[in-house]
Amino acid sequence: MTRPTPPGADHDEGARPAARRALRAAALHYAASGIPVMPLHTPYRGGCTCTAGRECGSAGKHPHLRHGLHNASTDPATICSWWARWPHANVGLATGTGLDVCDVDTPDALRRLLDLLDVVRPAGPLVRTGHGWHLWYASTGLSNRVGIIPGVDWRGTGGLVVAPPSLHATGRRYRFTQPYIGSLPGVPPALRPLVARPRREPVSRTVHEAPEMGDLASYGLAALAGEISRIRAAPRPAYSGGQRVSAGGRNDALVRAAFRLGQLAEAGSLDQQTVWPQLIEVARAVGLSGAQARRTIASGWRAGLRHPRPPAERVRR
Ligand SMILES: [Zn+2]
Repeated sequence: MTRPTPPGADHDEGARPAARRALRAAALHYAASGIPVMPLHTPYRGGCTCTAGRECGSAGKHPHLRHGLHNASTDPATICSWWARWPHANVGLATGTGLDVCDVDTPDALRRLLDLLDVVRPAGPLVRTGHGWHLWYASTGLSNRVGIIPGVDWRGTGGLVVAPPSLHATGRRYRFTQPYIGSLPGVPPALRPLVARPRREPVSRTVHEAPEMGDLASYGLAALAGEISRIRAAPRPAYSGGQRVSAGGRNDALVRAAFRLGQLAEAGSLDQQTVWPQLIEVARAVGLSGAQARRTIASGWRAGLRHPRPPAERVRR
């Protein structure tokens, strides 16, 4: 279920027809250069257009479509139909096909990165986000990687970024401070080894069982869908004479889901930006509060990161 899109021109610039046209035009432009596009929710009245509203922990950054990354498309007719349905939708780009993004959180992190690259400005497109920057590169075939240096993440296969001229929760729009004119630089030699360095290996991993990175992303999304179904199916609390006689299983299902998906995230097949909004949304749909859900998810997720799951177990689930 989707909330109504923001009406009228009374509350934010996202409502202006020119801004709506710019979102769709940008989506078509990215798609024409081979970058798969998907419609994202939009920051709205201090929250998000998703059902979590003000409790959404990822306002304007997660997909309208349930299988967001899988649904990403370069087909103009599909893209036009999405922006006809959600004219205010932020523009999401699936990374790993045509585009990889170096995601920088803070001015300090940008300084560290430019020092490492030994440049004053990045070679290619540079996007100003809500608080940080995105450096765009041609795709590497490498997967998402958190913390390649402090404050800097890599968005590769299985990743998602928000693109200009999307609206950020701060009220600012994502914008290019160095333009995108259809071509992208390769990943700098100083960065590649940081993105590609071996991950902590789960003990039982063997070569013939290790899936390719694209498969890893598919396993991750299939696992996410499975965990969401389990949360939906978990028993609700039972009441008798106004007293709660059974706590139900929703919170347990949620912590288990966050743990198992965190295990996959450590192996590179999922990322927090994909998983958390969907878990929060389903948690709210089964009656948990957004704040409670976020705490539960955070603790399960952290535990999962510390216990990565071997690929074989992922395949056989
Ligand atoms: Zn949301």
